[in-house]
Amino acid sequence: MTEIIDGNAVAQDIRNGLLDSIETLTESGTTPCLATVLMNNDPASASYVSMKHEDCEEVGIATKDVEIEPDAPAEELFDTIDELNDDPEVHGILVQMPLPDHVDEREVLRSIDPAKDVDGFHPENVGRLVAGNARYKPCTPHGVQKLLEAADVETEGAEAVVVGRSNIVGKPMANLLIQKDTGGNATTTVCHSRTEDLAEKTRNADIVVAAAGVPEMITGEMLTEGTVVIDVGINRVETEDGSELIGDVEYESAKEKASAITPVPGGVGPMTRAMLLWNTVKAAGDVAGIEVDLP
Ligand code: NAD
Repeated sequence: MTEIIDGNAVAQDIRNGLLDSIETLTESGTTPCLATVLMNNDPASASYVSMKHEDCEEVGIATKDVEIEPDAPAEELFDTIDELNDDPEVHGILVQMPLPDHVDEREVLRSIDPAKDVDGFHPENVGRLVAGNARYKPCTPHGVQKLLEAADVETEGAEAVVVGRSNIVGKPMANLLIQKDTGGNATTTVCHSRTEDLAEKTRNADIVVAAAGVPEMITGEMLTEGTVVIDVGINRVETEDGSELIGDVEYESAKEKASAITPVPGGVGPMTRAMLLWNTVKAAGDVAGIEVDLP
């Protein structure tokens, strides 16, 4: 029987597991607070930001919501980030991507106080992750790690294949999997758009993490019996009745081979959201000097 890894349920456990720490922090005078900055007119981005606010409210994390006109000068964004960096009530800062063309994304990531960089994309935090001393693990790969743990998947000694090498998913995922740490110690191969024979790599894997943004590219044929399949992909595709979200994995054929698999939606997506709360609580705990219990 293939185990369907329920991301909604694991994310709910993570949120529940944060409640005591949030209460302890709030009672001691430090209410965890996440600030979001939106500088685009993309409806999907606006909806991601509003979901993040709802998630925070649900667990008692305060929020700040800053919106900047997309045609405003870049200085306005940098000034906003400076203010949030200096604001003692703000513990986490998230700048929603994408940014307008006239704003240098790398410069933006560098301008966020690394202690408040709950996305984990500041070069200092990337470096710390690679060096095995992570401050904030990026939310999506951290969520994948938690899903593997919840499904009792042993990563130590496993052959893991990560499909995708982006800075937000593929690279940090591979870095977490190779760490000499819990949820790591996997022999990890990173595949990407120039990989010659992807199926040969995935067929040798005990764990496949698909994060390529290509609808249903990983099929059952590309897997060996018993593989654990984590589908990070979220692709909106047109259907007869409108559109639907599908993953990077062809779910039905992959399920025939997998020992465990995540669905889309309801797999990795909810975990990404939950781990942002996790990082925000950690950030607040660090500021308060309180060692909070993190699930
Ligand atoms: P990206 O476009 O930045 O990177 C995609 C990567 O896949 C690239 O490194 C590329 O080399 C690789 N790739 C592309 N085509 C390939 C192919 N045919 N074979 C092998 N590798 C290939 O995307 P991203 O931001 O890393 O996101 C990947 C997917 O994950 C997208 O569908 C995105 O929507 C989704 N995503 C989901 C969550 C979540 O919470 N579930 C979070 C972030 C991203």
